[in-house]
Amino acid sequence: MEAEIITIGDELLIGQTIDTNSAYFGQQMGSIGISIKRKTAISDHAQAILDALAEAFSRVDLVIMTGGLGPTKDDITKKTLCTFYECGYRRDEAVLAHLEQLFAARGRLMMETNQVQADVPELCETLHNAVGTAPGMWFDQQGKVLVSLPGVPGEVYHLTEERVIPKLKAKFPLPTIEHRTLVTLQKAESLLSRQLESFEASLPSHLSLAYLPSFNMVKLRLSQTTESNDTAMAGDIDRYFAKLQSEIATDVYCLGDIDPALYLSKYLINNNITFSTAESCTGGWVAHRLMQAPGISAVYPGSLVAYANDVKSSELGVDPSIIEANGAVSEVCALAMAEGVRKKFGVDLAIATTGIAGPGGGTKEKPVGFVYIAVSTANAQLCKSFRLFGNREQIIQRSSNAALWMVKQLLKMPADSGL
Ligand code: AMP
Ligand code: MG
Repeated sequence: MEAEIITIGDELLIGQTIDTNSAYFGQQMGSIGISIKRKTAISDHAQAILDALAEAFSRVDLVIMTGGLGPTKDDITKKTLCTFYECGYRRDEAVLAHLEQLFAARGRLMMETNQVQADVPELCETLHNAVGTAPGMWFDQQGKVLVSLPGVPGEVYHLTEERVIPKLKAKFPLPTIEHRTLVTLQKAESLLSRQLESFEASLPSHLSLAYLPSFNMVKLRLSQTTESNDTAMAGDIDRYFAKLQSEIATDVYCLGDIDPALYLSKYLINNNITFSTAESCTGGWVAHRLMQAPGISAVYPGSLVAYANDVKSSELGVDPSIIEANGAVSEVCALAMAEGVRKKFGVDLAIATTGIAGPGGGTKEKPVGFVYIAVSTANAQLCKSFRLFGNREQIIQRSSNAALWMVKQLLKMPADSGL
């Protein structure tokens, strides 16, 4: 099943509003087996709307449209749809009752401009919008379906999930799509894909593998598409997902489409491992990511951002002579920071970062993106240097992923701890 998206609004074309609705549709439609073939953004002009509709329907049988359904004069989608379908208006009593109730609840007077929101093209079926005033509209003419929704993202989400998707599933025979995702850290996408060459070649046609890279992290998503009447192959995805894991066993950080920081936090909570961070170049970003997990307070007393050298010494006890002899961006300094914060907060595990986030401050020996990360417990320590690239923000993000990876190495954390 193929569809197209049309987004309407002058604000989208001048860049005042970012078109997030079509990204959302892409995700939602993909999840029910409808593939979006094209998206078109147009202005609030009748001819533009008419042309876009005629063109889209010459290619596909389903068009989803948002925008231009407000009560003000600049929104002309409804009127244009009457032209397109060569029909007049009808007053929808259910929409009117909803509007009256909404205005009464908000203690506001309903005006004529609001009432006209209950006037809809005769040929449409309205989709009840419980969170706004403009209803969604569903047209089903000569085997072609048009869904027209307001532009407000919150209303789009509500209408899509509560009204549109159930109707699409009832109307069209759609395949079942399933996904299994795992997260890898510190291995380049190209190296992973080389390692997985024969695995990918062995995939049957109803399975596919996608690589989703970001900041030294690659998520691998295995997807299975089966037609609604075909249940024999339903179990394939789990067999192949197990095979995928064994192919790259040492690179798998965790299973599921989750933030690896959240996975690590949950692991620390579940195993009652207390931790702190001492952060220079990441400025608290590692701590920020780890403390997102609800319940983290059970294992996390706090962290120290030690940016200046004298703070590394005064607060973490790093011997100034270490910094003098080796610089703050050095293995000995990173290890001393980790030891210092572990003792300061009396925790089981410490993570320390020190490096050059840029854009300035790089040298030939220690260029921008050169980062040391140390992790330590009472009986083990690990420190490694990383050569990270990107701008300042990206280096910070990559450093934090490297820190998550270091903890996994030190603790030998399993990728599947049943979390
Ligand atoms: P409208 O239905 O055209 O009155 O739009 C209502 C609000 O939704 C306006 O603030 C628009 O900027 C916003 N909006 C319209 N289209 C989109 C879109 N494609 N993505 C995100 N926001 C949008
Ligand atoms: Mg508009």
